[in-house]
Amino acid sequence: MSKTPIDYAKVGLKCGLEIHQQLNVNSKLFCSCPPDLFKEDPEITFLRRLRPTQSELGQVDPAAFFEFQKGVKILYEANRKSSCLVEMDEEPPHPINLAAVEVVLTASLMMNMQPVDEVHVMRKTVIDGSNTTGFQRTTIIALDGWIKVGDKTIPMQAASLEEDAARKTGTQDEGKTIRYRIDRLGIPLIEVATAPVIYSPQEAQEVAFAIGRILRDTGKVMRGLGTIRQDLNVSIPNGALIEIKGVQELELISTVVEYEVQRQLGLIAIKEELAKRGITPESLKPDFADVTAIFKDTKSKVIRKAVDKKQTVLAVKLAGFAGLTGHELMPNFRFGSELSDRAKFWGRVGGIFHTDEILANYGITTEEVATLRKAVDAAEGDAVVFVADTAENTQDALKAVVDRCQEACTCIPQETRTAKDDGTTRYMRPRPGAARMYPETDIPPQPITAELVEKVQAHLPEPADKKLTRLIKQYGLNEKLAKQLIDSEYIGLFEETAKTSGVQASTVAAFLTETVKALQRDGIHTSHVSDEQISAIFKAVGAGELAKEALADVFTWLSKNEGKNLQDAITALGLKMFTEADLVPIIDRIVVANKQQIEKLGKNAFGMLMGAAMKEVRGKANPELVGKLLRERLK
Ligand SMILES: [Zn+2]
Repeated sequence: MSKTPIDYAKVGLKCGLEIHQQLNVNSKLFCSCPPDLFKEDPEITFLRRLRPTQSELGQVDPAAFFEFQKGVKILYEANRKSSCLVEMDEEPPHPINLAAVEVVLTASLMMNMQPVDEVHVMRKTVIDGSNTTGFQRTTIIALDGWIKVGDKTIPMQAASLEEDAARKTGTQDEGKTIRYRIDRLGIPLIEVATAPVIYSPQEAQEVAFAIGRILRDTGKVMRGLGTIRQDLNVSIPNGALIEIKGVQELELISTVVEYEVQRQLGLIAIKEELAKRGITPESLKPDFADVTAIFKDTKSKVIRKAVDKKQTVLAVKLAGFAGLTGHELMPNFRFGSELSDRAKFWGRVGGIFHTDEILANYGITTEEVATLRKAVDAAEGDAVVFVADTAENTQDALKAVVDRCQEACTCIPQETRTAKDDGTTRYMRPRPGAARMYPETDIPPQPITAELVEKVQAHLPEPADKKLTRLIKQYGLNEKLAKQLIDSEYIGLFEETAKTSGVQASTVAAFLTETVKALQRDGIHTSHVSDEQISAIFKAVGAGELAKEALADVFTWLSKNEGKNLQDAITALGLKMFTEADLVPIIDRIVVANKQQIEKLGKNAFGMLMGAAMKEVRGKANPELVGKLLRERLK
C-alpha cells in the first residue's frame, strides 16, 4: 500500500455523521421501567419466531430476510426489574416520556434546529429480532439546523428520539437461535444527523466532538462505553456510499474514515487491474469442484476436522485474480478478507482459504495446492478459493465469493460495515433500502407548543466558549484544566462537587480529567463509578475522613466492586482515617522519643516532629488535625 498521505480534497471524500446517545432520564421511552441494564441471570425467557408480512418485507434488509428463510429463532431474556409487558410486546406502549422529548428539544435548539409542531411516533420495520415488536419506534423532534465547528458551518439535518434496541447476548455459535436481552430495549436515544459535508477524517472527528459536547451540555445523556454510537457514511467518486455502524470511541473516527478511503481506493485499483487483464463478471463462473478427496490425508487441522466429520471441501477458480486476493486494503485486511467476510456471512462458514496466502501456515502442502489447481483447471493467472464445511454451507459460501468477485469487476458494492476497535471495518450486510415507516397508532400525537419551546429556550445550557471563561474565573482553574473539563463527561459533577465538597476546585478538576483518563488508559472501567459515589468520595475528603492521596485507589476499587459503597471501599482498603483519639497516643509517643531534640531545637522542632508524625500516618490522617494536636502537646 502506498505510504504517501492521501489528499482527501483531491480524492473527493464526503462524509456524514449520525450520532446516537442514550438519554439519562427517569424511565424508558414508552413505559416506566428504569433505563438500566442488568447483569444477573435472566428471570424470564421466551422464544419468538418473527413472521414479517410480505408487505413489510418489500424494502427490508435482505440479510435479515435471508436469516428468516433459514428458520432463525429468537430467544429473549428479561428481568422484572428492567422490563415489563411493554418490552415483551404484551401490552401497548404508554404515552411518550416527556422528559426525553425535552432533552432532545434542548439539544435541537442548541443546534439551531426548528422544532416540529407535533410529535408523531412512527414504526420503522426491523426484522433482525432486536425488537420484540418487529419494528423500532422513532419520532422526529426538530429539523434543519447548524453548528459551528471552527470556522465552518455544518448543516444539521434532523434530531430524533427513538427507542434503543434489545442487546445481543450469547455467541453466533448457538446454531439457529439468536439471543437478545430486552433490558436495553426502550431506553430513550437521541439521534442527530449531519449533512454529508465533511471532507476529511480529521474534520469528521472534530464535528463528532462538537456534537458530543452539545449533547453532554444538556446534562441528560448517559456516559460510558456503549451509551454512545456513531454511524458514519463515507463516499468517494467512483467508489460507493458505505455506511459504517457502531463506532464507540470518538477518538477512532478519523482512523475509521481514513481506512475506509484506503479500502475504496484499493478496490478501485483492483477494478482497473481486472479491466487491464480483460476480466469481466462473465469470466467468473459459479462452477464448484468437490475436492474433498484431495485432502483425505491432509495435515491441515481445520480441513482435517471437517473431513473427519464427513463434511465437504469445495473449491472455485477465480479467473484472472492471481495476486489480487492478496492485495491489502486496510491494515491486516486483504481483498481475500473481503471474500472471507462474505463467505462467513452468507455461508455461515468459519473462513476461507485462497491461493494468495501462505497455505503452508495452515498445514496445507504444495502438492495439495498443485492437485487442487488442476482439479479446478486454474492457470497461472487465476486464484483459487476453497472452503471446508457442510455441503450446504460451502455452496452458499462460494456463491457469495463469486458474487463478490463479479462485483469487483464493475463497482464497489454499497454495504453496511461494522467498525472494529482498531479502526478497520468488516462486512455487516448489504445496505438495506430505505426502511419502511408507518404510523404508530397506539400513541396519540403530542403537540410541541410554543410555550414549551419558549420554556426550553429560556433555560438552554451555557455555550462552551462562555463556559470556559466562567470556569477559569469562578473556580480559579488554568485554561488547560478548564478546557479538559469542558470536553469531559464530568463537567456537571465537577461544578456541584467544587461547590459543596469543601475540596479545592483544582484538585477536583485535575482528578476528574487527568487522573480519570490515566485510569482509563490502565483499563479501569471508570463509568462503573456513579456520580453519587464520586460525590461521596469528595465529600469524605472535604470532611477529612479520607486522604486526598487515596482518591485514585478508592475510585479504582469501586469500579471493580459494583454495588458496594464508599464505606466498603475504605474498610477493604484499610483507609479508615485516624480520629483524634487514635492520634493522641501516637503523637505522645513521637514527642517522648524525640525529647532531647526538642530541648535542643526549641520552637524549631515542630517541623521535624510533624515530618515524623506524617511519615507514620500519611494517607490515614488529616494533616491539619495532626498539626493541631502536635502544637497542643508541645505546649
Ligand atoms: Zn417496561
